[in-house]
Amino acid sequence: MFMTFDFVNLAYLIAAVLFILGLKGLTHPRSAVRGNLYGAVAMLIAVVVTLVDQELLNLPVLIGGMAGGAAIGAVFALTIKMTAMPQLVGLFNGFGGGASVLVAAAALIQAVGIISGAGAGGLDLQISISTVLSAIIGAVTFTGSVVAFAKLQGLVTEQPVRYRGEQIVKILVGGLTVAVAVLVILDPADMSLFWVLAGIAGLLGLLLVVPIGGADMPIVIALLNSYSGLAAAATGFVLSNTILIISGSLVGASGIILTQIMCKAMNRSLANVLFGGMGAIPEKASTDDIYAGKTKSTNADEVAMILKIARRVVFVPGYGMAVARAQSAVRQLTEAMEADGITVEFGIHPVAGRMPGHMNVLLAEEAISYDKLKEMDQINPTFKNTDVTIVIGANDVVNPSAREAGGPISGMPILDVDQSRTVVVIKRSLSPGFAGIPNPLFTFDNTLMLFGDGKKAVDDLVQAYKEA
Ligand code: NDP
Repeated sequence: MFMTFDFVNLAYLIAAVLFILGLKGLTHPRSAVRGNLYGAVAMLIAVVVTLVDQELLNLPVLIGGMAGGAAIGAVFALTIKMTAMPQLVGLFNGFGGGASVLVAAAALIQAVGIISGAGAGGLDLQISISTVLSAIIGAVTFTGSVVAFAKLQGLVTEQPVRYRGEQIVKILVGGLTVAVAVLVILDPADMSLFWVLAGIAGLLGLLLVVPIGGADMPIVIALLNSYSGLAAAATGFVLSNTILIISGSLVGASGIILTQIMCKAMNRSLANVLFGGMGAIPEKASTDDIYAGKTKSTNADEVAMILKIARRVVFVPGYGMAVARAQSAVRQLTEAMEADGITVEFGIHPVAGRMPGHMNVLLAEEAISYDKLKEMDQINPTFKNTDVTIVIGANDVVNPSAREAGGPISGMPILDVDQSRTVVVIKRSLSPGFAGIPNPLFTFDNTLMLFGDGKKAVDDLVQAYKEA
């Protein structure tokens, strides 16, 4: 060991405090950049101290590995579209899980080698249990995240895939996982058993995520994020590395808190998401039956005139605003209306877009003041005093069918935009949103449909508003 035990632990303590300050910073957009910085410094301390402490100072390998990893990370960060961020996060969760399985395997091979060399009878129980946990949680996270990635990327159906006897299959595979885990603990020297365990746990991850889909996906991504943290914490026990245990636990805990927030936002219990409920496959009603002759189209000039006489306007952005990259045009329209004394606010649904905080990030890019961004509970009571609500690229989060029982998104709290005097919905067609269901809002008497690409439509609105 290059460093004293005390110095290593002090450095880990500083890193842990920085990780916690980093998480605290990430709770508000204003302090998020500082929070990220704290996290990065903490990670640097943790990595350097661990490498020096463990005498892992093979510089060519380290520099090569870090440069390769940094290059891949930079390419992803620079090329990924904002709209593809959730699946990227999902995939990275999966890599974390996969890494935990590999580290557990390596630690097992090393430990068993040492023990058999020394002629000892078995592994320390703490090591074997944490190795097994690391393998199980890591493998579940890996395959679950790959399925979530494939769903969000549209490589497989986004809809829940349900089948008869689904819960029994899951219970059987779960039971088999526990049984093989016990065998690995009893005979850790048999590496083939370890790989069988990882394989079965991987199958479990697949079976757990395949039946989830539609509007439940944000909850699954948050949960897998939490699993990846727990897998890392278990790996920390395998390696007896304090900072890995702490950072893994922080990821696990914050992931589960986010899962809880998402469940609350969707008015669902976690058990309901994992084992049934919204999984009901939406009935395929013909869009013609629902919308035929009942929607009213409008144009930029007409909307501009309505806005001119408004006193309070609320924007409700959704995934389509991200796709269209319309946030800059939205800011211009906001500024033009505010110059005329109109109060403008933004109603942000917790699952709008495709990742938590998606809309906040886009609007922050445009330096739209955080004070104007109102959460669902704050904005909902104000819709009845709102002259015009402009729904831009949002669909599921404003779908009033959530208020009725028996539907695929029943019970999910929505933004009550239909209570405003006039609702203008900007989207390209009558296509459904992520949950794949029609939206009766488009047929309401006070709703006007402004069809078109989000950016083009708002650009036209800005021009028409200035000319009106
Ligand atoms: P939705 O997915 O419900 O609807 C988006 C709408 O945007 C579509 O109806 C589409 O209609 C429209 N659109 C797409 N491209 C454009 C464009 N270029 N210009 C204008 N409109 C466009 O979005 P919401 O934000 O309302 O809801 C989010 C959904 O995603 C929820 O179901 C949520 O559960 C789910 N989800 C959320 C995650 C999160 O963490 N926030 C993660 C994963 C899923 P059209 O094609 O007609 O233009």
